[in-house]
Amino acid sequence: SNIVAIVGRPNVGKSTLFNRLVGERKAIMDNQSGVTRDRHYGYGEWIGKNFTVVDTGGYVHGSDDIFEGEIRKQVELAIKEATVILFMVDVEEGLHSLDEEFAAVLRRSDKPIYIVANKADTNLKAQFIGDFYALGLGEEIFPVSSASGSGTGDLLDEVVKHFQTEDVENPDEGVPRLAVIGRPNVGKSSFVNLLLGEERNIVTDVAGTTRDSINSRYNAFGMEFIITDTAGLRRKTKVHEDIEFYSVLRSIKAIEESDVCIVMLDATRGLEAQDMNIVGLADKNRKGIVILVNKWDLVEKETNTMKAYEEQLREKMAPLTYMPIIFTSVLTKQRVHKAIETAFQVYKNKTQKISTSKLNDVILKEIEAYQPPAIKGKFVKIKYITQLPTHNPTFAFFCNLPQYIKESYTRFLENKIRKHFGFEGVPINIVFRKK
Ligand code: GDP
Repeated sequence: SNIVAIVGRPNVGKSTLFNRLVGERKAIMDNQSGVTRDRHYGYGEWIGKNFTVVDTGGYVHGSDDIFEGEIRKQVELAIKEATVILFMVDVEEGLHSLDEEFAAVLRRSDKPIYIVANKADTNLKAQFIGDFYALGLGEEIFPVSSASGSGTGDLLDEVVKHFQTEDVENPDEGVPRLAVIGRPNVGKSSFVNLLLGEERNIVTDVAGTTRDSINSRYNAFGMEFIITDTAGLRRKTKVHEDIEFYSVLRSIKAIEESDVCIVMLDATRGLEAQDMNIVGLADKNRKGIVILVNKWDLVEKETNTMKAYEEQLREKMAPLTYMPIIFTSVLTKQRVHKAIETAFQVYKNKTQKISTSKLNDVILKEIEAYQPPAIKGKFVKIKYITQLPTHNPTFAFFCNLPQYIKESYTRFLENKIRKHFGFEGVPINIVFRKK
């Protein structure tokens, strides 16, 4: 996946640029797990290319006092994780001694670096842009105004040129990519090791494997799949926050690269806020999802314990209720096979195509029985339905007045599609088109 990191001294406008690249709508994961900080990462898109934006500067305090150690920490984080680095400076204030300190660390990087000269709204200020060439860095200087957005388009045109593109001939086409994600200590490594150890069948490294994640093709329980294993990225860190930070970044990458996310929870702890973030992220990315409630061996059981647990869990996850929940113990190997089987089924569900005739036969009847409510005396008439040839299941409803369909009716339609066509574990999109 492609990561754009923004670095620079405090108060140059990094978070404004961040928000601009990400767009409020797509901002994710504020205030993770009780650690309050600025937003750090979010998703951006430019000419159809998706990327993750990281503002590593949110990491250091917003004051002007910034220590060399913090600069190094921030920049090294960017160098390690980023595809492209945006080094932000402030034209209004001109070249600052801290800019030079940043540049000194950045010079050790072999990643593409662009100097983004912020607050270049006026020609008056723009004349000082040339001063920043003295930093001896970067391919080019891009004047922008992160507040108004001017110049960011040109910048992004350049940035996306460094993005990896999908392999054209992919030998792994049709082999499900599974991501095993969850908070630290839920049992992810144990789960992956069990798959790996059990049948000693780790196969090959897969094309497209990057420094950032190891994609291995497995053959376990008679099924072939790829696990995006970001655990190998684990590195020793001194500060607690770093562990959190890397762990979230790893989850984002793993989710992006997968078809189906196996989200592991710890049965003894239940569903916590960060688990919900992870599930929400997988859903936003339109990935298949299977929930594993692991360490089930540690839970004392009476009649109906599992059923009650599941009901409670579904209540907490509402309205995200389409995913299968499986109670596993990696330790005693309970339902591990079932977990993988279910992930496969979700993959099948995700890739299935429903024929237009079947869809219309079944769903038009449901619509007949429960028409969209009239709005302002106008009646919405749905004429036909078709599944679009998109990567994620998307159903287009052609009708006379698409703008009059309410959210609740959309949910009704989604439920009917799920009821008749079995999209368990798969987020589906419903769109309305004018006909
Ligand atoms: P990760 O951080 O998510 O990769 O978690 P690990 O796989 O390192 O597991 C964390 C701890 O939980 C280890 O001590 C495991 O032995 C233990 N563990 C993992 N799965 C289970 C399980 O199903 N039951 C029990 N009782 N312990 C487990």
